[in-house]
Amino acid sequence: MKVTDHITKANGKTLFSFEIIPPVKGRNIQELYDNIDPLMEFNPPFIDVTTSREEYVYIDRDGLLDKKVTRMRPGTVGICASIKHKYDVDTVPHVLCGGFTREETEYLLVDCHYLGIENVMALRGDAMKEEKYFQPTKGGHPYACDLVKQIEALNCGRYLHETVERDNCGDFCIGVAGYPEKHLEAPSLQSDLKRLKEKVDAGADYVVTQMFFDNQKYFEFVAAAKNMGIDVPIIPGIKPIAVKRHLQLLPQVFRIDLPQDLIDAVDSCATNRDVRQVGIEWAIQQSKELKAAGVPVLHYYSMGKSDNIRAIAKELF
Ligand code: FAD
Repeated sequence: MKVTDHITKANGKTLFSFEIIPPVKGRNIQELYDNIDPLMEFNPPFIDVTTSREEYVYIDRDGLLDKKVTRMRPGTVGICASIKHKYDVDTVPHVLCGGFTREETEYLLVDCHYLGIENVMALRGDAMKEEKYFQPTKGGHPYACDLVKQIEALNCGRYLHETVERDNCGDFCIGVAGYPEKHLEAPSLQSDLKRLKEKVDAGADYVVTQMFFDNQKYFEFVAAAKNMGIDVPIIPGIKPIAVKRHLQLLPQVFRIDLPQDLIDAVDSCATNRDVRQVGIEWAIQQSKELKAAGVPVLHYYSMGKSDNIRAIAKELF
């Protein structure tokens, strides 16, 4: 079932969902199941599975360093299919511009369609570590909006390089990313919102936000988006702080602000166990307020570990 249909069916009740990361290649999928199992009692209607951008690796060949591109966490669509089958839950593979040609994207969508996957999250992806700015893959898309257009064309029966429209191609519900504190490359929140509107006009059905730690930022973002004519559901993304290093890492990587009260509470923790507890309590307070405001879904970034998400969900669902 489509994410938007789950929201409609819930009739105003806030739903619970979360995002997981595929294991590093070579590791057992059981680790993933062990983290999903404790969350299933909260009835997530859908689970997102991220896609990792490829990375450069250096291989020493006869004393010469050779640069290769590899994906450290492959398997997104396969994991989506296995979770869907094992738990009877809808899954949302993240589909990236970066690292994929348009043809590869088409094949991936064909796989999703055959597997009964009805939702996809369309994303650009970040620049690779060694790039200053995002470089589109040769034959791929430069922006998420272009990817949305490709998925929407397929929804209308139009495959790449085909002159006839076809019937059997999928009818994907399309999610896109939104940034309550603007995307790090955007010159202003207003211009970033215009880009979000372009994605919605191109066919996106719902938005999931980047993490934020001050609900006011989300409420203002939703109001500004509505003002701009963006009328699709905007799902808040919540990440509980888990280690002290997040205080530096999260603002640096995502260009988001952390409230001073949260910084002080984390700073005063003696152990990472205490930090994890502060993160849980902060996320519970955030979630309660968002739920009271009637958000359609509370979507949690699990980063592969579910104990803290479970502690939060127990208070909310
Ligand atoms: P876009 O919407 O393309 O926007 C990127 C930037 O370009 C923005 O600054 C925007 O304002 C600007 N822009 C857009 N269109 C134009 C245009 N026509 N001309 C000029 N500028 C333009 N990353 C992963 O690698 N894997 C994942 O699984 C993943 N999942 C995510 C899930 C969520 C909910 C979120 C919020 C992010 C996720 N990301 C993931 C990170 C995401 O890929 C990065 O934030 C990326 O830098 C931007 O992706 P986007 O889809 O928002 O890009």
